[in-house]
Amino acid sequence: VSALRRLAVRLPRLAAVALLLLAAAACSDSGPPTTGAITIVVTGLDAGVAPDLLLTAPDGTTRPVTAAGPVGDLRPGRYTLAARGGRPGRGRLRASPATQEVEVVAGRTVAAAPVAYSEAPAVVVVTIAGLPAGTAARVVLTQPDGGTLPVAATSRVDPAATGQWRFAAEPVSGEEYTFGPRAGTGDGVLLAGDTLELRVDYEAITGAVNVSLPGLPGTVAANLTLTGPTGFTTGTTTRRVDAPGLVRDLAPGSYTLTASPRETAEVLYTPTAATQTITVIPGLTVPAVVPWTATSTVAINVGIEQVHLTQAVQRLDGTVTLVAGRDALLRVFLRANRANTLRPAVRIRLFEGSTVLETWTVQAPESSVRTELAQGTLTSTWNVLVPGALVRPGLRVLAEADPDAALPDADRSDNVWPRGGTPGLVSVAAVPTFNLRFVPVTVGALTGNVTEANREDFLRATRLMMPLGTVAVTIRAPFTSSATELQANDGNNAWITVLQEMNALRAADGAPLATHYYGVVKVTYTSGVAGYGFVPGRAAIGWDYLPSGGLVAAHEWGHNFSRPHTRCTGTEDGADLSYPYAGGVIGQWGWNALTNALVPPTATDIMSYCNNQWISDWTWTRVLNYRATSGMVGSADAASGAATGAPGATTAGTTSSTTSSTTGGATSTTATGNAGMTGAGTAAGALGGGLLVWGRVVDGRVLLEPAVRVPAPPTPLPVASTLRLELRDARGGTLLDLPVEAHKVDHVFDRDERHFAAVVPWSPRLERALAEVRVRDVRLPLGAATRASAAVAARARAITGDVAADAVPLPEPDVATEPDGPRTRVRWNARDYPLAVALDASTGQVMAFIREPGRAIRTDGRPVALHLSDGVRTIRAQPAR
Ligand SMILES: [Zn+2]
Repeated sequence: VSALRRLAVRLPRLAAVALLLLAAAACSDSGPPTTGAITIVVTGLDAGVAPDLLLTAPDGTTRPVTAAGPVGDLRPGRYTLAARGGRPGRGRLRASPATQEVEVVAGRTVAAAPVAYSEAPAVVVVTIAGLPAGTAARVVLTQPDGGTLPVAATSRVDPAATGQWRFAAEPVSGEEYTFGPRAGTGDGVLLAGDTLELRVDYEAITGAVNVSLPGLPGTVAANLTLTGPTGFTTGTTTRRVDAPGLVRDLAPGSYTLTASPRETAEVLYTPTAATQTITVIPGLTVPAVVPWTATSTVAINVGIEQVHLTQAVQRLDGTVTLVAGRDALLRVFLRANRANTLRPAVRIRLFEGSTVLETWTVQAPESSVRTELAQGTLTSTWNVLVPGALVRPGLRVLAEADPDAALPDADRSDNVWPRGGTPGLVSVAAVPTFNLRFVPVTVGALTGNVTEANREDFLRATRLMMPLGTVAVTIRAPFTSSATELQANDGNNAWITVLQEMNALRAADGAPLATHYYGVVKVTYTSGVAGYGFVPGRAAIGWDYLPSGGLVAAHEWGHNFSRPHTRCTGTEDGADLSYPYAGGVIGQWGWNALTNALVPPTATDIMSYCNNQWISDWTWTRVLNYRATSGMVGSADAASGAATGAPGATTAGTTSSTTSSTTGGATSTTATGNAGMTGAGTAAGALGGGLLVWGRVVDGRVLLEPAVRVPAPPTPLPVASTLRLELRDARGGTLLDLPVEAHKVDHVFDRDERHFAAVVPWSPRLERALAEVRVRDVRLPLGAATRASAAVAARARAITGDVAADAVPLPEPDVATEPDGPRTRVRWNARDYPLAVALDASTGQVMAFIREPGRAIRTDGRPVALHLSDGVRTIRAQPAR
């Protein structure tokens, strides 16, 4: 305000100077004038401050003018006088008029309009840049006094108060993108007469996708899904992409556009690309093209192709027999005639006769019905876990797809399985209990580790794979083998010895026919022989490494259940040449009931030597059939039957009478051969009711072990066998002639090896006459073996003529035992008695077979009694403890 007042005071003096100059210009001399002049008047400038004017001639030449007064020597024409403001450091002056035009006439001086300077007002200019036309900015200006002004576009505040101005800018939504200020705030100081320039630059911070759907009619919703960064998903309620056009305002990043088939009554539209990746860039609209093809006009048809139940392995047609009482996975296979988005439910009913046992309605597992069956994909089928209680002979199943007819379907007759609606019979067999007795076997100082705590680890693979129902398990007291060390290649035959003794132990224990013995051993190596078993048979052995011990056991029981090897590595001995799948694979889809996982057909059969084992339908079926026909059923009672009464026994009357006549004349008070017995238990009955005869048949040649009395009932006789066991008197007369079964040993490559063990009935009359045991295969008489009583033979050599066995006393036993921790060291006169059997003196249970005096056997503190065999006859000795 004070500056303006000063200008007003000085104005008159400046005007006077101008008048004086005008007078001078009027004084012209002679001749016609060719130029003219302009008189310039300036007001409002402080003394000493020059105006800054620019005079532009008609021809474009310019002449600066820095003082008031006349400007002469100007050619006639139209001139432009422009005033330029400026006052360094003190804000701007404003000149008025800023420009004017002046017509110069020759010989005259014309007056330009006075150029008046005045103080310019302070101004704030806010420039908004970067927004599309028509998009309002969101900027708030704060004045020096705190007042605010909203600004939507480039603006000017004129006049404006001096001092500090501030702005704050916020993002705004445009038509396609969101725009954000490059700087959200800013400020500046406005001086008097000055102009403060504030600038807000907006830029796009989002992008857009322009979706086009060639080939899809506008009447069909595309139902696309767009997913992107930070969890962005188009939802069914918020940003559904179901039509072509813009998807606006997307955060930058990578997006996935997913399309699925769309269906009308007649046409199925299939996207040629089910998914595509789109990169969203700020300020850009990127195209996304999803072409569609109309693939079919065939009426949709859905049907049930197959239903089956599986417990471990199954063929697609469901012809593998199930085990009663065991959980099964029921799978319903649907198939459609073309691509679709149908999700039919399936109703499954189980019947017994006409009674419905159970009904399930299973929802569709996938978003469409497959056009091809996929047995190897569990989610491709409608599945139900059928509890074991419902799996029983006579079970029938009926399945119906879309039972409420809720979905389009050209032919509903194939929605029912079996066709026609009569429930289909499921093949289910009741199987005998698998009676199993684990035996911890001591070899040398090592005892196999099988206990109540870990027995299931030995059984798990078997329970999963083998066609078994109930498994009845016991664990026997430890047994000490006469073998001394197990070797990886069985170079010392110790594995065979243990297997043979396991078979003999089973007989000596009087185990029922159906009971399997499984000896568990501990070895010192990690690669090599892991198990042996009879093919078929009731005894097997295996190492105690877990979990591999469980697979070894399953394999060995497979042998016991009659299965030979399945060729896989090529090193399997005696492989089944009828096996239907090359390379030893299982060939069909398996199912692991523990993990509910499918097992691929490329897994290898448990009876092979390859890894990744499961059971084939071939092995499953043959094990099932073998167990159904091999005397497993009801066999728990079989052991009590007398051997002489069983088929095949040839204790004919003539034989018996021969025996009687032979021994009739011999009378002795020590007829049981217990003469010289020391210690307790000298009564005949203490030895037990049977004679264990055992041995091997190697390539047809019989090798007899010393027979020994054991407290066990007679072994059930085999139905048919060419191997005969004879008990004979000293004259070679037959006392008893029985069939005995020899079981083939698996994993023996270089020879045919079979083992036999049988407890034959014993009586005091038999004992009085017994001098020899003979075993022969009737087809191979040259391979027969005879073992004689050493005592009887010695007497026969000493005297001439017949010797009555009962007249021959057995040598005095000379036994000693010595405790050694949980073991007991045993010594006896082995020259007289080649075999000692150690028994628990209180229970009669066999603890060990011993062939070398001085060996330690595992007794765990139990009292020991010894049965010493001279090859045929036995004497009992119970050493003083
Ligand atoms: Zn094998």
